[in-house]
Amino acid sequence: MKIAPISEELFQRAQNSIPGGVNSPVRAFRAVGGNPRFMVSAKGPYMYDEDGNRYMEFINSWGPMILGHAAEVVQEAVQQAIPNSLSFGAPTRKEIEIAELIVDMVPSIEKVRMVNSGTEATMSAVRVARGYTGRNKMIKFEGCYHGHGDSFLIAAGSGAITLGVPDSPGVTQGVAADTLTAPFNDLEAVKTLVEANKDQVAAIILEPVAGNMGLVLPAPGFLQGLRDLCTKEGIVLIFDEVMTGFRLAPGGAQQLFGVTPDMTTLGKIIGGGMPVGAYGGKKEIMNFVAPAGPVYQAGTLSGNPIAMSAGMAMLQYLQSHPEVYTTLEQTTTNMVNGMNQNMQELGLNFTINHVGSMFSIFFTSQAVTDFESAKTSDTAMFGRYFNSMLQRGVYLAPSQYESLFVSTAITDELVQEYIKANGEALKEALLR
Ligand code: PMP
Repeated sequence: MKIAPISEELFQRAQNSIPGGVNSPVRAFRAVGGNPRFMVSAKGPYMYDEDGNRYMEFINSWGPMILGHAAEVVQEAVQQAIPNSLSFGAPTRKEIEIAELIVDMVPSIEKVRMVNSGTEATMSAVRVARGYTGRNKMIKFEGCYHGHGDSFLIAAGSGAITLGVPDSPGVTQGVAADTLTAPFNDLEAVKTLVEANKDQVAAIILEPVAGNMGLVLPAPGFLQGLRDLCTKEGIVLIFDEVMTGFRLAPGGAQQLFGVTPDMTTLGKIIGGGMPVGAYGGKKEIMNFVAPAGPVYQAGTLSGNPIAMSAGMAMLQYLQSHPEVYTTLEQTTTNMVNGMNQNMQELGLNFTINHVGSMFSIFFTSQAVTDFESAKTSDTAMFGRYFNSMLQRGVYLAPSQYESLFVSTAITDELVQEYIKANGEALKEALLR
């Protein structure tokens, strides 16, 4: 039984000086009830909180820690870089090396610009797509989250759903009017929107595998259908691979599904845990970015030497250890099989979506293929399940509308522990 009086006290204190007590909304446990745990350290598969509790981890900093926490190869690279100063604001060799590596790894990227977060990456990519096409409108999908840029907070996923403010105050109607939305996996709806806004759509942006309404896979033909439509209509296809990049394959979902967008946005794993994002794509498009071209985008700390060192170490490791992906896939499959077995024993028929090292359990028996079907999940039951798992020392994302991430630190033994906890927590979650 994990109890956390120190975390509770810290959360009370935090609320006096930090909005809601946290620096990013979903950390506040609003969707699941209870108070967040305040962490002090993490290593491999475990995080440790202020009360000395240990948790087996399936958030992994919301994605970056694919090798588990404090992976030596990343830690060492950071330690080596620190004595040379934390920031220059001038170019470095390392920035070329990481750009070349990204170009090598990600099929769609011929040129890349480093930024400091996934939010910056998507905001910038859409600006470039608009500058390149001379068009204003953008199509996004219901339940997809692309960071908190104004034009993306329309029918957005992740914390925006959890807080019940998918259309945030502070986003002007003017901005909202340029964002068109379609249901995920609905190619016909996209075609209709494009037809109704002929020659006005600059970009279609999506998570090729959606991770911000829980995990939702693209239906067969959906990604290729968007690719064909964009080619035909002169629209820039942007894959937001902030979650899936370097996670589903060295080249992300675009490699896994064999569909190449015009632009790609990246984050999370690319920084190995440091604040990094990136956007890239065809040379012809990226040459519109300042100072090569007229579309302005800049950053005081962009390409930061410590962050680049962490990212470089992470990406090099992943590129030279392709077996990571088969191992992660196997671990995740074993977890999913165990969960299905538990449900069978309990006579339950909930939906589990998974691909590679990402998975979500939805408390509904419907297939989950878009935001509407994701919303059929019993979120109160999810809350009970989450808290039961937490009590058993398993740390999940504190919202139904998130994907879980498996790291290489999850051993077969831990898979068994997880499956056992899952069976017990499912039973508890059924009790009201
Ligand atoms: N795009 C996607 C697909 C994401 O999952 C996220 C964050 N979870 C973002 C963009 C925003 O990235 P950041 O939080 O680094 O700004």
